[in-house]
Amino acid sequence: MATFGKGVHPKDCKALSAEAPIGVLPDPQKVWLPLSQHIGKPARPVVGAGEHVLRGQLVARKAEGVSANIYSPVAGIVKGVVGHITASGKKRDHILIENDFTDESTSLAPLESPSGESILSRIEEAGIVGMGGAGFPTHIKFNVGGKADVLVVNAAECEPYITCDYRILKEYAEEFLRGVRYCMLACGAKTAVIGIEKNKPDAISLLSSLCKEGDISVCALRTRYPQGAEKQLIYSCTGRVVPEGGLPVAAGAVVSNVHTVLSVCRAVEKGTPCYERVMTVSGKCVKTPSNLWVKNGTPLREIAAYCGADENCARIVSGGPMMGEAVFSLKVCTSKTTSSLLFLDKTECEDKRASVCIGCGRCVQACPMGLSPTFIEDALFRKDYEEAKRYGASSCIACGCCSYVCPAKRFLTQSVRLAKKIIAERKI
Ligand code: SF4
Ligand code: SF4
Repeated sequence: MATFGKGVHPKDCKALSAEAPIGVLPDPQKVWLPLSQHIGKPARPVVGAGEHVLRGQLVARKAEGVSANIYSPVAGIVKGVVGHITASGKKRDHILIENDFTDESTSLAPLESPSGESILSRIEEAGIVGMGGAGFPTHIKFNVGGKADVLVVNAAECEPYITCDYRILKEYAEEFLRGVRYCMLACGAKTAVIGIEKNKPDAISLLSSLCKEGDISVCALRTRYPQGAEKQLIYSCTGRVVPEGGLPVAAGAVVSNVHTVLSVCRAVEKGTPCYERVMTVSGKCVKTPSNLWVKNGTPLREIAAYCGADENCARIVSGGPMMGEAVFSLKVCTSKTTSSLLFLDKTECEDKRASVCIGCGRCVQACPMGLSPTFIEDALFRKDYEEAKRYGASSCIACGCCSYVCPAKRFLTQSVRLAKKIIAERKI
């Protein structure tokens, strides 16, 4: 069974929502669209207060460089650009639109005979970003100048609880596979490998039965976290090693996630821009664990109410429990990268009271990047950032494995991330 070295095997908790067919969350009365739903510069609003917009209309244009367009997910009246809280707890600019519930819509023209070039510019125009959580603009990621011969599709969905990609594979398999072909054209890859963890056997057999032409294959992966991390996935699916500090293209690969691929298909065939997504709502404090189409900019409170979630549960997490963020306010709104919302009880989240490191080395054994988190943390506390760099802090992928295995419950992931940030800011 294909896999990478190290990592951990947390309880997957996917049974809660895995069999819930994808439903549709009723449209919210108001949407708050973050201008930063991606890595890079915030988009610039092109609509003003009082303006009427249609569903699928451009409301913020990408800035120069790394950025992405933003489209309205509803028809209604723009109330203005307002400061609104984000999952990180900071206030950021959002476009506030009041839904008029007419659902009047517009879209881009479908591409008649899509070529690599036209698909790439369609991806850019449609504002598609990595929807697995990273949010890197896809048109930049795919623009590798013919240097990649393989597209690796991340269908591992290795984070516990999350099942939206699994449902997409089951319910939109053919559309997804057409999306894989469009992505191959866009990045110039001759072959594609779809990496799926073996805890989704029906998705593996469905996709395998549909991949008849040989240039697209399915790779069954060992259930191991973080199987979906770029470098680990490339290694598991192709045996290629991305050099330290390098990008996947250095190993001739481009990686994309299931939902991104589906969005590419819809942007090409229907001209649908990226303004909604499927997300998982799960955890023991949710009455109806679900997979739902949710319009970007929807307040989390509306999702909680629809699924019968207990707002006073032990912890609310946006994203997966390993890499997601704890949510402090349900006023926060969804974006292109909100893959899940978890309402966890006490048994599902650890009481994190850190104690002294006992030198057991488990964090070193677990780190999939081969780092020594305990030494990096020690160097950070001594403000010896040179040493933190020597221990490889800059290669940290923030997977959370080190914190997960630490018997002393140390906040290793946060420490290593902080060291990485300081090293980058000070250009050490
Ligand atoms: S140091 Fe970074 S990459 Fe290594 S286990 Fe911790 S979070 Fe993951
Ligand atoms: S796992 Fe925790 S206790 Fe063990 S060496 Fe790492 S930091 Fe120390």
